[in-house]
Amino acid sequence: MPPITDLVQIRRLGEQKRAENLRFRAHIKSHVFVERQFRKAALETESQIDCQDCGECCRVGEVEITERDVAKLGRFLGMTEKQFMEKHTALDENGLTILRRVPSADGVLGCEFLSGNECTVYEARPANCERFPHVVRGAGSIQSRMWEFVDRATYCPIVYNWMEKIKGLTKFRAGIKGN
Ligand code: SF4
Ligand code: SF4
Repeated sequence: MPPITDLVQIRRLGEQKRAENLRFRAHIKSHVFVERQFRKAALETESQIDCQDCGECCRVGEVEITERDVAKLGRFLGMTEKQFMEKHTALDENGLTILRRVPSADGVLGCEFLSGNECTVYEARPANCERFPHVVRGAGSIQSRMWEFVDRATYCPIVYNWMEKIKGLTKFRAGIKGN
């Protein structure tokens, strides 16, 4: 079956399945699984979905950046690190440095480097963006990071479809409590 990529549908289904996905998280944490099968399923899902048709994570999420990201982006844009910091970054509510967010032409807030669904600094994008949605490329085991994916399944087609796929692999019985 082809993956679901329509963002309205993903939002609706991800929210509808939030409680089920929380139970799935508990299921994953309380059983032993071969991690490799989860990464393999994520690679398959990633290969079926084109992020350039989506860009939703660039609208939904704030992107925390490092000094290394600032140096790389500054070089890419022909700016000093100081200029980059002043022009393109902000602080989040915890005082962490994030990429500046601005409303698009249709009023939707998102990363200021997003144009339509495309990243205008793609070659120099921050490590956080490169690794997103942090399924295949994430620090720590997938089992220990399942909490991250319940929310992401409400907006990211890769995460939503991947979670549905691995529910089958782990014999999780959707809709049945006490798996
Ligand atoms: S830098 Fe690019 S990939 Fe990262 S959030 Fe902004 S537009 Fe998206
Ligand atoms: S990572 Fe997910 S939300 Fe981001 S562009 Fe790709 S499919 Fe869309």
